[in-house]
Amino acid sequence: MSQQDLSAKRTRKRFIAGAICPECKKLDTLMLYFENNVEQMECAHCGYHQSQSNQDVKTAAKGAEGIIGVFKPE
Ligand SMILES: [Zn+2]
Repeated sequence: MSQQDLSAKRTRKRFIAGAICPECKKLDTLMLYFENNVEQMECAHCGYHQSQSNQDVKTAAKGAEGIIGVFKPE
């Protein structure tokens, strides 16, 4: 087993630009990551969690463009 295999399995979370948490209403606190090949959404502020299979995710993301690959170096 190589080091690369280990790091690849580590969950990678991306912030969703322009998304508002449906729970705490904070902007840019929602993160997107994969778990068992299902996209999961989680709020870094209040811990709100939602699976991508749920239609509400699209509402929360407000049709933000470029969801994938958005990094905020803060
Ligand atoms: Zn929240």
